[in-house]
Amino acid sequence: MKDPQTVTLPHGGNLSCDTCQSELFEHHRWKLQTTGMSFMNLDWANRDATCFVCTTCRRIHWFHL
Ligand SMILES: [Zn+2]
Repeated sequence: MKDPQTVTLPHGGNLSCDTCQSELFEHHRWKLQTTGMSFMNLDWANRDATCFVCTTCRRIHWFHL
């Protein structure tokens, strides 16, 4: 799913960019277990992150969903 979309948050309301207030994001699922994370021995890091990339300014918003 890489088409720009609005994001409805679990507690209600739309996600808006922290930087430019845009409400259109690209949706990605990224592995948190990457080089540089695993050596820190963080169990919680061995999971997927839900990431929304602002289509306007490219800021990444991370969610642990
Ligand atoms: Zn933005």
